[in-house]
Amino acid sequence: KYHAQLVELKGNIRVLCRLKPVMEVDQREGEVSPAVSTEPGSDSSITARYKGKERTFELDKVFLPEATQEEVFLEIEPLVLSCLDGYNVCIFAYGQTGSGKTYTMEGVPEDPGINQRALQALYREMEARAGLWKYSVTLSVVEIYNEVIRDLLGKEPQEKLDIKLNPDGSGQLHVPGLTSVEVQGLREIRKMLSLGKRNRATYCTNMNERSSRSHALLTVTITGTNCSTGTKTSGKLNLVDLAGSERVWKSGAQGERLKEAQNINKSLLALGEVIQALRAKQGHVPFRNSKLTYLLQDSLGKGNKTVMMVQISLLEKNAGETMCSLKFAQRVC
Ligand code: ADP
Ligand code: MG
Repeated sequence: KYHAQLVELKGNIRVLCRLKPVMEVDQREGEVSPAVSTEPGSDSSITARYKGKERTFELDKVFLPEATQEEVFLEIEPLVLSCLDGYNVCIFAYGQTGSGKTYTMEGVPEDPGINQRALQALYREMEARAGLWKYSVTLSVVEIYNEVIRDLLGKEPQEKLDIKLNPDGSGQLHVPGLTSVEVQGLREIRKMLSLGKRNRATYCTNMNERSSRSHALLTVTITGTNCSTGTKTSGKLNLVDLAGSERVWKSGAQGERLKEAQNINKSLLALGEVIQALRAKQGHVPFRNSKLTYLLQDSLGKGNKTVMMVQISLLEKNAGETMCSLKFAQRVC
């Protein structure tokens, strides 16, 4: 309850930005970092420079390159926990390829990211509430590539899935045939996540390329039953590592590659438009303009919580993409 109220005060959509540290390899290549700067004393404004133009953006929070995985997670922990009170939550990582999306979401084995920390925090809280609430947790993992949804926990990862309106007339969406696994704890979840990864690797020849052009979505559904009253709550946590936001068509892509680029761009644009429409409390929200927003429709709408983590590179050579990413952040903020 307390968490839910806290979240309410801060609004339903939070736009955060994380600056990726300049890596050793960049320094070796002589890259310096003049393209982006932050104001001392402000934790929410960021200034970018590109082609002689300078622009300052005001977001909800900016994480400096030194920010740890833990600091980033602590900022969104209340939102994550609100799933247990029946909220649907979406956490997106947005940014060009190499800007740290996967680092922020998955992290590295020695320093896990949001996904692992979120699941840990949820289990900790479920244990704390064990006498009052009984919870069941299910997991599904999909990839969206070229506007095709793939079930990564199914026996047939190649299966193309569609989104349908539930035939029961409830207005809820469902994906016929999508594997949803009931899990007992963190160990089992980790097993499922590595199964998803293996499945993904079996049908793509180049994982790096593939993951930069597809969205990876992990959905955790938590249903709670109150032990004394029998009241039920149901919440969902959607963790999304988005496709790279770079403007591929500018590099002269053709054929299949161009079609792919257009689809990526289309779905990221659609996501931005949906969030903007929700922000503006518009009557019509264009959920159906992409598979991603259609699939997340019941998590993005009214009464739900969204975090957009915009990943930013400090390098001069990425200044153009950085400006674009910050403009996207500002549009949805
Ligand atoms: P993306 O998923 O956006 O393409 P990655 O998450 O794969 O980018 O990041 C690119 C590289 O930079 C990876 O080797 C990753 O481990 C590293 N990296 C990204 N962000 C950080 C960070 N905050 N601290 C340390 N290393 C990072
Ligand atoms: Mg990645």
